[in-house]
Amino acid sequence: NDPILRISDLHVSFHVRGGEVQAVRGVSLDVNRGETVAIVGESGSGKSVTAQSILRLIPTPPGEYKQGSIEFMGQDLLTKSEQEMEAIRGQEIGMIFQDPMTSLNPTLTVGFQISEVLIKHQNMTKAQATSRAEELLTLVGIPNAKDRVRQYPHQFSGGMRQRVMIAIALACTPSLLIADEPTTALDVTIQAQIMQLLKDLQAKTGTSIILITHDLGVVAETCDRVVVMYAGKVVETGTKEEIFRNPQHPYTRGLLRSLPRLDHSKSEPLIPIHGTPPDMSAPPKGCAFCARCDEAMRICVDNDPVNYTISETQGARCWLHDPVCKKEGASA
Ligand code: SF4
Ligand code: MG
Repeated sequence: NDPILRISDLHVSFHVRGGEVQAVRGVSLDVNRGETVAIVGESGSGKSVTAQSILRLIPTPPGEYKQGSIEFMGQDLLTKSEQEMEAIRGQEIGMIFQDPMTSLNPTLTVGFQISEVLIKHQNMTKAQATSRAEELLTLVGIPNAKDRVRQYPHQFSGGMRQRVMIAIALACTPSLLIADEPTTALDVTIQAQIMQLLKDLQAKTGTSIILITHDLGVVAETCDRVVVMYAGKVVETGTKEEIFRNPQHPYTRGLLRSLPRLDHSKSEPLIPIHGTPPDMSAPPKGCAFCARCDEAMRICVDNDPVNYTISETQGARCWLHDPVCKKEGASA
């Protein structure tokens, strides 16, 4: 394994009136070269904050990187100057967001917005950048690129705008692409097309991808590995197969039960996870999932579980995997 990104014990907080919201509480994860890693969790799980931290997009204050490191190609991004980060963003690490309309400038042509990146980061001339912009639009599956470069964002459909964002993100052939809910605003058919496009582009360019999503369904087709986050912590990691066939954390099992699946038989109803995530300005002392967990034991209330190794590639942060608790759970 050859990690291009290694996050170690990352803690990120937001200072708000009357307290501190502990959005990320000790996240560690690796992304290998050419790999797609999904970070999955409900809103407020800390997945977006983790992603934004990689690009150092958290405003400080009110945010604060409290602890940990984010090593990208061997260098800790948390120690970089803002100027160094400027060069890394877009060039080395690309990012696409949920809603392309808010990231695209409505008053500039799509071609101009792609060219801008190429002129700034790749020292291209205007003519070179324009012709490369056409190539990029074709690459992301937008027909008639020659005409399309002269059009404005509102002349594109939602799915086509997301393709434009992908073209911008890939303009400088980054080694890592971070996609934060890239298909959430799109209908299901278009979602599948966009995910397929990302896969195809990855096969061509070898870029690593971090896919942030609340929807395990989006993950099923696309990812190599899955990281499940809850209340600012990684609660389970595994290969896609391990997570879907053999989930070992009650929260992961809950996410899967609440997921509409093509192979879902009618006798298996979709069951949403009851309750709500904890208040992160006063996170619980024990397991953060305790109040919502049907398998909770006495120990869970006051004691936060450690990560238990399930396999070489799978781990779960849950007392159910503690040999002593297992016995007690069985006898209780
Ligand atoms: Fe449930 Fe306890 Fe496991 Fe937390 S540690 S997920 S409360 S069984
Ligand atoms: Mg988010």
